[in-house]
Amino acid sequence: MILNNQNDKPALLGGTRTFEGRFPSWPIYDRTEEQALIEVLRSDKWGRLDGDVTAKFEAEFAKYMGMKHALGTSGGTTALSSMLGALEVGPGDEVIIPAYTFVATYNVVVLNYALPIIVDTDIESFQIDVKKMERAITKATKVLMPVHMGGIPADLDKIVAMGQKHNIPIIEDACQAPGSEWRGKKVGSWGIGGAFSFQSSKNLNCAEGGAVTTNNSEFYKACYAFHHQGQTENAAGFGTGEGTRGANFRMTEWQSRMLLAQMTRLKEQDTRRTENATYLSSLLKDIKGITPAKPYAASTNVSYHLFMYRYDQRQFAGMSRARFIEALRAEGVNTNTGYGRLDRDPYVTALAKNPYYLKVYGEKAMKDWLESLKCPQNVKLTDEALWLGQSILLGSRQDMEKIAEAMQKIQKHAKDLKE
Ligand SMILES: *Cc1c(COP(=O)(O)O)cnc(C)c1O
Repeated sequence: MILNNQNDKPALLGGTRTFEGRFPSWPIYDRTEEQALIEVLRSDKWGRLDGDVTAKFEAEFAKYMGMKHALGTSGGTTALSSMLGALEVGPGDEVIIPAYTFVATYNVVVLNYALPIIVDTDIESFQIDVKKMERAITKATKVLMPVHMGGIPADLDKIVAMGQKHNIPIIEDACQAPGSEWRGKKVGSWGIGGAFSFQSSKNLNCAEGGAVTTNNSEFYKACYAFHHQGQTENAAGFGTGEGTRGANFRMTEWQSRMLLAQMTRLKEQDTRRTENATYLSSLLKDIKGITPAKPYAASTNVSYHLFMYRYDQRQFAGMSRARFIEALRAEGVNTNTGYGRLDRDPYVTALAKNPYYLKVYGEKAMKDWLESLKCPQNVKLTDEALWLGQSILLGSRQDMEKIAEAMQKIQKHAKDLKE
């Protein structure tokens, strides 16, 4: 790595900033999106029951995924909920999820009064530890719900094999991973269904929105019904439904039209993020104590949502992670610690005292559940993890060099920077 500022003082100590520019802002749009929204406005057809834009988006997204069906939903959370609803997940069932994920993965399980079984992390990849995942399977396991964190595919070979061996369906939480591939096939197409999110921060964005993807037409029908008050697609009136439960998780024509417009940018943005993340990883190889998340070898494409890496303070003269964040910010690069410990979050541990859980599972089972929330590797990871957001990865190649340069400068001066 070529460095220009090895001897400069860190910006935090009064030196010059390494990165003077600005990373791309987010969201990204122009007249295309303006026109798109006006088009929907003037069509007088604002909901999917009124118009055909949502169906168009679904066809477009299914094509992008190389899959039979995509179902637009009001969000990623409701995409997951539609699938759990379609599979009739309920009280007494267990759903296996990773410890290192957004809380929505956990919430959708709890919303059905099923028991979330939280599995430890493989800290090299930041993904669910598949060995521990298999050990977590019991007779009550109803669904395996891996997450492709940050856009990096979880170990799908092992997870798919596990699902087949134990005859348990897999729902992929691919909310952060549209475009990522495992052995040449998109993630979100390996289980019975995949969930995607189009929430503001995500790589494909319409403020709030999501999708279910599946190749299973029966499952698609059940998801459609669940997200549409238990009614079948094209049902003329009420009372022609499927299943016994449902909700309204429908996508609007605004969201769909916005997504169609944003999708015209997706491929180029994905390519840039992937190139930049790969380049940045190669630059960071020279910096001891900075270790990017390592995708498994079978990941044939990683559509990065986050650039996740570990910070080892021992290689930085014992400087705390918080101080590193401060120093890097002063150099012009924003980084953050990402998710905390789901398995120790009071919001999660309080479930052991939830009156309905006590009613369904009993005191002993809930006490055992609380005891089982031991994820030592995830503790280590959440102590060391740092993220760079996806819009930083939309910067230039030179921007990536500046990030590496800033980190190297901080390392060189860690003794002085340390509090
Ligand atoms: C964003 C996200 C969700 C939830 O999606 P929303 O669209 O915000 O409802 C679920 N799981 C993961 C891993 C996510 O990143």
